[in-house]
Formats: sequence, C-alpha cells, structure tokens
Amino acid sequence: MNNNNSNSLSADNQASGSGAAVVNNQPPLSRYESQKRRDWNTFGQYLKNQRPPVSVAQCNCNHVLEFMRYLDQFGKTKVHLHGCAFFGLPDPPAPCTCPLRQAWGSLDALVGRLRAAYEEHGGEPDTNPFGNGAVRVYLREVKDCQAKARGIPYKKKKKRKFNQTTSSQQQQHEDQLLVKNPKLPA
Ligand SMILES: [Zn+2]
Repeated sequence: MNNNNSNSLSADNQASGSGAAVVNNQPPLSRYESQKRRDWNTFGQYLKNQRPPVSVAQCNCNHVLEFMRYLDQFGKTKVHLHGCAFFGLPDPPAPCTCPLRQAWGSLDALVGRLRAAYEEHGGEPDTNPFGNGAVRVYLREVKDCQAKARGIPYKKKKKRKFNQTTSSQQQQHEDQLLVKNPKLPA
C-alpha cells in the first residue's frame, strides 16, 4: 500500500516504462507541483467553458466561488442535510441519500495551490481572486457546515509541515481516522 493517492503518477511511470507515446523530458514534478498544474489546467478549462468564455485576466472571485460549487458534483464526502437522521453523526450506521461534496480540506488546499499558480502565471498578488475575502468567507462557511453535518470538528493540527502536500485522499483518510477515533470528552 505505498502508492496511495499517486495513481496517476504510477500510471505515468508505467507508460514511460513501456515506451508509450508521451515522453516528458522535464524533470519529474513533486506531487504538489503536478497537482497544482492539474488544478490550474482544470480551472483554465472551466473558464474556457463559460458562456461567453472568461480569460484568466478577467476572472474574479465569483468565478472562483462558482468553480468550487461546480466541483461539488465530483466530491466524495457525504455531507448530511438537516432533515437526515444521521445529521451530526460522525459514523452513520447506514447509508443515506444526502449529497456528496468536496471536503472542506480539499477545497482549502485547492485554493492554496491555485492562488500560487495564479501568481506564477503573471497574476498580481493584489488582485488575486483566490486570495479574495469572499473566498475565505466561503471556505469558512463550508468548514462550519461540514463540521456540523458530519459531527467532525476540524481542529488545528499540531504538526502542519505536511500541509502543502495534503491531497484530497489524505484529507479523507484523516477524516476517516477522526471518525474511527473520536475524541471522547474527559
Ligand atoms: Zn444523510
């Protein structure tokens, strides 16, 4: 189990090992850098698909907010609705029909990567839409909402040094660990 959250990387390795089509002469990117590049491409494609298409220079915090909502359809984190019997239960005993969303930690990490990518692509820090206050407010709301719906408190971790490379899978794994080992009140 040493290839968790690197499925695409190992696929790339296999492809180059078998002499398959795409040959990349660049030095291999770190997991964070390659994820950042994928995120940036995904965001650029999202802007292009708008009607009318939006350029990176035109994009503002509303596009960032809409992008995050758009990504929810690909989420894998169950977020219980208020009417659900399992609302607030970290470890529901049965499945339910509540929607899957992007986990707050995944969105938070995504915004961090895209904020860096925006400036690497010539964007001005002062007008960086990913650093906009409205985006921070949205993330805080998602965090609070998911903490209540899932009964999982997001506590500040003592060790933060792996934060930059935390992938969505790792985040989910951590979430599951929190679920399995709930901190009991003393
Ligand atoms: Zn539910």
